[in-house]
Amino acid sequence: MSELLYLDHNATTPIAPEVREAMMPWLENDFGNPSSVYSLGRRAAAAIEKAREQVALLVGAKTDEIVFNSCGTEATNTAIHAALAIDPDKRHIITSTVEHSATVKLCEHLATRGYEITWLPVNKEGLLDPTALEEAITSETALVTLLWANNETGVLFPLEEISAITARKKVPLHLDAVQAAGKVPINLEELGVQYASLSAHKLYAPKGVGALYVNRRARFTPLLRGSQESGKRGGTQNIASIVAFGKASELARNHLLSGAERIAGLRDRFELSLLSMVGGVRRNGTDEPRLPNTCNLTFSGIEAETALLLFDKEGLCCSAGSACSSGSINPSHVLTAMGVTREEARSSLRFSFGRTTTDAEIDRALEIIPRIVAKLRTLQPAGGSPVRMNT
Ligand SMILES: *Cc1c(COP(=O)(O)O)cnc(C)c1O
Repeated sequence: MSELLYLDHNATTPIAPEVREAMMPWLENDFGNPSSVYSLGRRAAAAIEKAREQVALLVGAKTDEIVFNSCGTEATNTAIHAALAIDPDKRHIITSTVEHSATVKLCEHLATRGYEITWLPVNKEGLLDPTALEEAITSETALVTLLWANNETGVLFPLEEISAITARKKVPLHLDAVQAAGKVPINLEELGVQYASLSAHKLYAPKGVGALYVNRRARFTPLLRGSQESGKRGGTQNIASIVAFGKASELARNHLLSGAERIAGLRDRFELSLLSMVGGVRRNGTDEPRLPNTCNLTFSGIEAETALLLFDKEGLCCSAGSACSSGSINPSHVLTAMGVTREEARSSLRFSFGRTTTDAEIDRALEIIPRIVAKLRTLQPAGGSPVRMNT
């Protein structure tokens, strides 16, 4: 088995050693229920409050605005349900054509239940036109729900302009900040969003823990009713993972500026090298504004799913489209929304770098990728459709 070359940090990240260390006591002797009154329980409650401060600091929130839950998907579902439950007469939601599946699937479901969904388009660069948002808002609009950073292309939506519009029109705004958190500086308070989704496993903490930011002035109603999290999210808290999320947020905050610059340097070298070394390569999504760690490329004439299998034999992990849709051969909805043809979308690969990515790893990737792309292209009959191999 080849040494692992993990270039898929937008799918998930490894648990940082400091994070693992911070969570271990809560899996061992400190197993108390944070709602219990004896000291074992009170210690757990205090650990959760410390984590809440750490997460709040990362995103520019007040501690009581952070509601811990099970994942980013739960946060998004909760925010959308809350907006609809608060104003049952408003049956219109505005989102975009390039959202994460958590948003897409729920909005598609709501459409079958009589809700009206506006899917705002993006241009070839993956950018959204704020005036289209302004025009889409009506007196029926219950919520605007948008990504900040796109998980497939890294493209950043113009959040300042978007939130200025929703504030002026007095429509609540939910932000999917899962990919942005820890990669770009965030101040939710200044941005003026009402709700935001966060997930720990995209920032070097374990899977299965996330948070919903609920602005103090925003109206809210829970999805899971119970006494925990001030009644905003029932269910005994996953303390070890929440502590991990807190520690990971603190690390992310420390790494934010210097780390992001270093990762952008690696990403740019990788991207520019492939664009110049390999023919028939094109970048998907604008260069700026974009997450510093993400690179999405189309290698014309190859089948991305087959490339993934050949890369895997050399230990290289990256993704074709979004992680959530891998295994299916449907082309990425994000790329097709940007006007990329279905065939080109099936020839596209996402590489996402992380804190542990090294220069040597970039060198190794730059040796493997051109070699495998060349191999796949020789398998393709000229002018024919890409070959799918049974590997
Ligand atoms: C990963 C991701 C989610 C979902 O988070 P989970 O914790 O895996 O449910 C939502 N939005 C974006 C942009 C993501 O990348």
